[in-house]
Parts: sequence; structure tokens; C-alpha cells
Amino acid sequence: MEFAREDILRLEAFLEASERPCILSHPRPDGDAAGSALALASYLASRGKAAKVLLPDPLPENLRFLEGADRIIVAAKTPEAARKALEESDLLLCVDFNCLARLETLEQPVRACPAPRVLIDHHLAPERESFSLVFSETQVSSASELLFWLLKALPGVSGDAGKLSAACRTALLTGMTTDTNNFANSVFPSTFAMASELIASGVDRDFVLDRLYRDFREERVRAMSEILLQALEITPDGAAFFIISEELWQRYGLREGELEGLVNIPLSIGKVRLSASLKETPDGVWRVSLRSKKGVSANRIAREWFHGGGHEQASGGKLVIGEDVSSREEVPAYVRKALSTL
Ligand code: 5GP
Ligand code: MN
Repeated sequence: MEFAREDILRLEAFLEASERPCILSHPRPDGDAAGSALALASYLASRGKAAKVLLPDPLPENLRFLEGADRIIVAAKTPEAARKALEESDLLLCVDFNCLARLETLEQPVRACPAPRVLIDHHLAPERESFSLVFSETQVSSASELLFWLLKALPGVSGDAGKLSAACRTALLTGMTTDTNNFANSVFPSTFAMASELIASGVDRDFVLDRLYRDFREERVRAMSEILLQALEITPDGAAFFIISEELWQRYGLREGELEGLVNIPLSIGKVRLSASLKETPDGVWRVSLRSKKGVSANRIAREWFHGGGHEQASGGKLVIGEDVSSREEVPAYVRKALSTL
């Protein structure tokens, strides 16, 4: 991956000048948000810079194996520490999101923070005007992959991935693995090259895969089975959707992120071109996840119907009860209508 030399020099100058960098990523962090943020923190630590990692929400349990996960400042849990981290920071490093509105509750405090902002992201349509320096590539698997190539381009690393700490390399492989759904989508030649270099440098991929995919609780599989058996609906237009009700969530005692990946399963049906998952919440702002096959835009459905966005084939958003529909009973009809526009 090629970067403008001038941009690399500017990034290096920002990092070198910063004494209190703060790394930010998006709400309900996934593996790429966590992986890229913690990899960058680990890299900065190896340069003697103690970066703070600030996230709006806690990590799901299967990502807590990443080094530094226990030091993340979670704004939803410790708002005072989050406010202080922003106030004290002299550089904001934003990874895996494309616009400040994506930060939700952290948007305004971040806008009010005078520190320069650097964006490292792989989503469509970055909000360039809000950043001093932008690294935005969509022809890359993940923010973690983009960060891998960026770190390698920095003068001190000079192309040698082996110079990155083990924790940094493990976090980068983790972020790329989850965003590609373990090499199933958004994979480019550069993605395999990255994986190859990381594994050659000693990253234990089996350990990462065990933590990510083989360490769940029984409740996950049983809840998924019930949803697929009883809640999955397939429309005549080749769309699939299901609602994860609050009742089911409570009955299985599910935890944030525990049904990660479920939305992909209906896509394994030949006639299904798009799959949608809707998670009911007590506050009436339901989370929506969308996945599509090539040629169908999950992104368009997310933008037009669910206040969201993301990638062409993997997007997310929300459905607001009292705004998009007047009651929960109307949700299936709204979704059928949205998905009839495929
Ligand atoms: P997920 O379905 O895994 O939550 O999200 C899939 C993709 O959609 C991710 O790339 C994520 O960044 C994006 N995404 C999820 N929720 C939102 C949202 O509310 N707004 C926007 N713009 N993108 C979202
Ligand atoms: Mn990502």
C-alpha cells in the first residue's frame, strides 16, 4: 500500500510531538475498533508514549484478551475519566470510523477538544474537514490493515513488521480477522500479505482464533438456534431478517456482543441476498445490522431506512420506536417494506 510521503512525514511529526495522545474508536466496539486502537496504543508505548484509549462503550468479552483492554477508558462507565482524557490530550487519533457523529455521546466533547485529529479509517465518505490529517482507504480489509501498512511506512519501523511489539501485531491480526469474518469478505491481496507477514513474525493465529470464535458460552449457541428456528423470516424478494427480542435476550441472560456473527448465517441460503438483524432495546432505539451479497447494497438500506451506514456489504444503523414506527408491533412491516427495495 502506497502513501504520500508528505502524509507519512506529517503523521510522524504529529506522533513525535505528542506527549499525551488519545486514541478513539466507535460505540459498541468490534474487533477492528479494539484491534486498531490497542495496536496503535501498543506501538506508541514502544516509543515511550503512554496513549489513552477512549471508547464510548465496553469491549465484548471475547476481545478482552487483547493487551491493554483492561486500561481502556469507557465513557459510558467513567464519564469523568473520559472527559479528563480528552481535556488533557494533545493529539486525537481516530480509528475505524469516518465521521465524528459516529461517536454519538462523545461527538460534542471531541469537537470541543482543541487537539489536532488524525483519521485512520476504511469506511466510505470520510468527514475530511474535521481532521488535520486523513488516511482513508476503502480498498483495504479493515482499519487494522490500514494501520499495519501505515506503521510499516513510519521511519522507525522502515518496513520491518518484526519491529512492532508482539501485542501490537496480535491486535492487528485480530482486527483484520474479525472485519473480514476470518477471510470471508473484504479481502484484498494486501490482506493476505499482511497476514503472511504477521504470522511469519510469530503471531499465534490459533490463539487469536480460539479467543475470537471458540470461547463462547453455551447460551450463545442456544439463543442463536432459537432465533433462527423461530424468528427468522425470509421475504419473497430474497431478504432475510430476524428480531432479537428483549424477552429472549433476558431469558438467556445474553451479554453485549454475544450474538456477533448471527446476521451472517441467513446469507448462507442461496436465495437470500441480504440479511438483517434487529435488536430490541428497552430505550426504544433498536440496533440494526445488515449484511449483503455482492451486487446488493446493505449500505444503501442502512442509510435510507435505518439512519446508518458502513460498507457496501456490511452496514449498521438503528430503528427508533416513536419516530420510524409508532410501536414495536409495526417493526416487521417497516422492515419488510425497507427490504422490498433491494
Ligand atoms: P455491525 O452490523 O457489525 O454493527 O456494523 C457493520 C458495519 O456498519 C461496521 O462497519 C460499522 O462501522 C457500520 N455501522 C454500524 N452501526 C452504524 C451506525 O449506526 N452508523 C453508521 N454510519 N455505520 C454503522
Ligand atoms: Mn472496521
